[in-house]
Amino acid sequence: MLVLTKASIDECNTKYAQGGIAAAIGPGDSPELHFQDTIAAGAGLCDEEAVHILVEEAPERIRDLIYFGVDFDTQEGEVALTKEAAHSLPRILHAGGDATGEHIERALSRMARQAKVRILEFFLATDILVKDGRVQGVRALDCRTGVAEEFEANAVILATGGGGRLFKYTTNPDIATGDGVVLAYLAGAEVTDMEFFQFHPTALRLPGAPVFLISEAVRGEGGVLRNKAGERFMSRYTPDADLAPRDIVARSIVAEMRQTQTDRVYLDVTHIPARTIVSRFPQIYRFCLEHGVDLTRNPIPVAPAAHYMMGGVRTNVWGETNIAGLFAAGEVSSTGVHGANRLASNSLLEVVVFAKRIVHRSTQLREEAQPIPVPSQRASDITCALPQRSGRGSYPPPSLSALQSLHWDRVGILRSGEGLREAALTLGAWEKALGKVTDRPSYEMRSLVLAGRLMAEAALLREESRGAHYRSDFPSPSEKWQKHIVFRRNA
Ligand SMILES: Cc1cc2nc3c(=O)[nH]c(=O)nc-3n(C[C@H](O)[C@H](O)[C@H](O)COP(=O)(O)OP(=O)(O)OC[C@H]3O[C@@H](n4cnc5c(N)ncnc54)[C@H](O)[C@@H]3O)c2cc1C
Repeated sequence: MLVLTKASIDECNTKYAQGGIAAAIGPGDSPELHFQDTIAAGAGLCDEEAVHILVEEAPERIRDLIYFGVDFDTQEGEVALTKEAAHSLPRILHAGGDATGEHIERALSRMARQAKVRILEFFLATDILVKDGRVQGVRALDCRTGVAEEFEANAVILATGGGGRLFKYTTNPDIATGDGVVLAYLAGAEVTDMEFFQFHPTALRLPGAPVFLISEAVRGEGGVLRNKAGERFMSRYTPDADLAPRDIVARSIVAEMRQTQTDRVYLDVTHIPARTIVSRFPQIYRFCLEHGVDLTRNPIPVAPAAHYMMGGVRTNVWGETNIAGLFAAGEVSSTGVHGANRLASNSLLEVVVFAKRIVHRSTQLREEAQPIPVPSQRASDITCALPQRSGRGSYPPPSLSALQSLHWDRVGILRSGEGLREAALTLGAWEKALGKVTDRPSYEMRSLVLAGRLMAEAALLREESRGAHYRSDFPSPSEKWQKHIVFRRNA
């Protein structure tokens, strides 16, 4: 087995996950309740079979993580559980307070090393090699030498994470450039639900400080949002107030910022005992303090930021794509569990549940050589290739900041047909202006432009508002859009 990673093995979205991982293991909880919360968040577009698998296999996968050495926090001898927005009960396990992802990432990479898995760091996958509809391997660039190499394989598992770097403000690290969806699309795989991108309501917004996530768990533990006058405002927008689903909180914050003519609101935890804050959120506490905010005494300045890509490479419940031997796991995949909006802390869970199923399936295939079924598609879904866009005039190649600003302004939290059309045309022109791919930055620019096109075109097609996708010109959900948009290059 070979793992390629374009940075060091520990640089990934997983490492930054704070809040935790969801599993129905607490008193009074059940997979059925977890199922209902996930379906409600998904706004009519979840795949029920995939969600059943997610919630039912969760306790078993948590046991695996404990066995692999993840030391989840405990309280009086029991695993400690917290509540996050849109969960009906406390069901979020966490480790190191707010360092859950780092604990999981460390335990899993240690296991991989112990199992003598071959790991090639700073190897950037640039192409998926496919012949007669079957995967043959990947081509990758050794970022340190600039030399391209081909690796043959019967099974390729894409686990390249998300695409938050498309946006000016994001909680995602530099590696999150949407490479996997683009690799898969160019190879002929189906990519779906790209219009659904989740914006986290609360990221630190301080001049000179990096965008840093302030976990939802902070509101779960009693933190409240205030405007610049110090007033609580969330109950003016939604009855669930500070614990409403993410998209509603993010849009309410944007509305409040517009009304109060500012670029931030404040998250106040000063009423919670300082001891609780420091022990429960040690990373957040330390990071804010380093940037001059003592959150036990002062409210934290926050604003929404791009956070999680719900769409991705379309798979069935075994992680299989429409290309034989090509699998996708984690944020790059679209297994159907998130629908139009992800329930908090379901993404780490999706990674472990479906990765395990892929391992099982790919081993079974090797042993029994069974044919791989193509994921089933609903008749109502729309399948198309990316449209040709000539753009207005000729464009110079895009800069990263221009691309990120375009996305933030036109394909962000509040969208309109006019803004999306402009983004689609500009991205189409930028695609034509892309230079030769020679190194990691030029390759990542190709990924960002193409992933951006998949997102903007899907958002333009979907003339309604649903889950994380909000169109000011179509502000309500529409029954006729109870379906998925699927992009396939050769459709
Ligand atoms: C700040 C933050 C907080 C979060 N908090 C939570 C939380 O509390 N709970 C929760 O459930 N989820 C949370 N999430 C989301 C969750 O962390 C991610 O969805 C999940 O970790 C994704 O895991 P992954 O394995 O799919 O991708 P990643 O962990 O991002 O790994 C992707 C890997 O692919 C490599 N890669 C990418 N492109 C290429 C290429 N072309 N060639 C070679 N290698 C490549 C990268 O270098 C990286 O190693 C959070 C995310 C962020 C950013």
